[in-house]
Amino acid sequence: MAERSGRHHEQDVELQQLWMGGHWEASSGDRVADVVNPAGLGTLARAQLASPDDMRKAVALARASFDSGIWRDQEPSQRAAVLRDAADRLEKRLPELARLLTSELGCPLWFAEKAHVPNPIRHLRYYADLVDGRSFDDYRSDGVNTSIVVDEPVGVVGAITPWNGPLSSPTLKVAPALAAGCSIVVKPSSETPLTVMALGEALAEAGLPPGVLSILPAGRDAGEVLLRHPDVDKIAFTGSTETGVMIMKACAERMARVTLELGGKSAAVVLPDADVDAFVAALLPMSFSVCGQLCISQARVLVPRSLESDVRDALAAAIAALAVGDPMDPDTYVGPLVSEKQRERVEGYLELALAEGASIATGGGRPGSAGEGWYVEPTLLTDVTNSMRVAQEEIFGPVVALLAYDDVDEAVRLANDSPYGLSGSVWSVDRDAAVSVARRIRTGMVSINGAPQAYGTPFGGYKQSGIGREMGPEGLQSYVEKKSIALGQFRPGEG
Ligand code: NAD
Repeated sequence: MAERSGRHHEQDVELQQLWMGGHWEASSGDRVADVVNPAGLGTLARAQLASPDDMRKAVALARASFDSGIWRDQEPSQRAAVLRDAADRLEKRLPELARLLTSELGCPLWFAEKAHVPNPIRHLRYYADLVDGRSFDDYRSDGVNTSIVVDEPVGVVGAITPWNGPLSSPTLKVAPALAAGCSIVVKPSSETPLTVMALGEALAEAGLPPGVLSILPAGRDAGEVLLRHPDVDKIAFTGSTETGVMIMKACAERMARVTLELGGKSAAVVLPDADVDAFVAALLPMSFSVCGQLCISQARVLVPRSLESDVRDALAAAIAALAVGDPMDPDTYVGPLVSEKQRERVEGYLELALAEGASIATGGGRPGSAGEGWYVEPTLLTDVTNSMRVAQEEIFGPVVALLAYDDVDEAVRLANDSPYGLSGSVWSVDRDAAVSVARRIRTGMVSINGAPQAYGTPFGGYKQSGIGREMGPEGLQSYVEKKSIALGQFRPGEG
């Protein structure tokens, strides 16, 4: 690969450098991550990991760029133009980026082409449109005195993101942060550090000024530097609840702004009048996309006892029929898990399920035909009660637990009997009845009959699923500080 890209061939695989304030730069340290293809295809690339000094440098560049006003003082329409241009550039690279993303994450190529790469492009365009032509000043009067309420960019943002949305998770932070006028340092996961770099390249080519954006894959040592640096005004985190708790504590020490998008254990509540076949068909993408490694995966299915055997049989048959295999194959529905560590985690939960008294209706093993990758068969657990750990904890794999309920009040109680509160779904032929159940579920998002969430609506969780919202206007607000400037007796237009 060309020198310009910052990826060099070394020992037959590429060595990726850091994206430092708008250009490729070699790390000052010597830590390197092997990025392994989860489909059993060996080492895909090697990625330099930022040292603590690299991270300090990126924060200094971000701080200097923010304080200079080089980006935040541009008109919103100018910022929007840069975001749109970057979106166009990413779109031109979509086929290449989808293949790279599939190679590092293991999700089916069709999913990368339809969702994991196009969604971030949409986020850039959405936030460009949201700020273009918008006034960041709101004049408010109490009848006597007038103040300007100014939406100011929050400052320097540190974004810490997980491996399961290699491009989408960083872009959901970078797009609104840049639209608001912030500077930002992204620390993606070292497991999937490759595709995200295209975001830096596209924005730099589109005219983002130097220093405003750095992308530094890193381990915990450098991650902690970003987290605790006094020049970072806000941390935007997506990842596990366990890490989120630690992040929130670290932010509390210096009152840094923090938003957290964390784990989930979402329930699909099937009401007694639901169309079972339609439910089963629609649930599959909601539970098995990206091999169940999505925070919003529907991991628990709650059915009325009268429908339990019908749903179990139909769901088990549908799950057993899912094509597991090479994620580059267009017929594949379920690819491998991201890493050996993740497979150990999922298999540990399957053992635990049996030890807790659950049964496996289908799946539970490694598929014989799929080859060397980190595959686990899509699995349906039955004989599950909600107090079992497999019903309470996030497995983050291709595993769905079936639970029976006696009446709708119990269904709502079971759905809410979770430390998490991210998403869920309600299934019924009566949409009004489903909506009234949805209103009782304490999660940030609920789908009726598998309907996709309208674009531009908030994404985030109640309880231990996080604090704050991404997407929509709410996603922009979390990169804004409110300032009131008191003008006294004044009417807009008076000068
Ligand atoms: P994780 O919490 O292990 O890691 C997330 C990020 O935090 C990684 O970049 C990691 O390197 C970093 N990190 C870990 N310790 C750190 C430290 N001490 N200092 C600084 N950074 C640190 O999560 P993961 O395993 O990468 O991702 C899976 C989790 O993410 C799941 O729980 C999933 O539900 C959650 N997730 C949530 C959403 C959402 O929007 N709610 C979206 C995707 C994933």
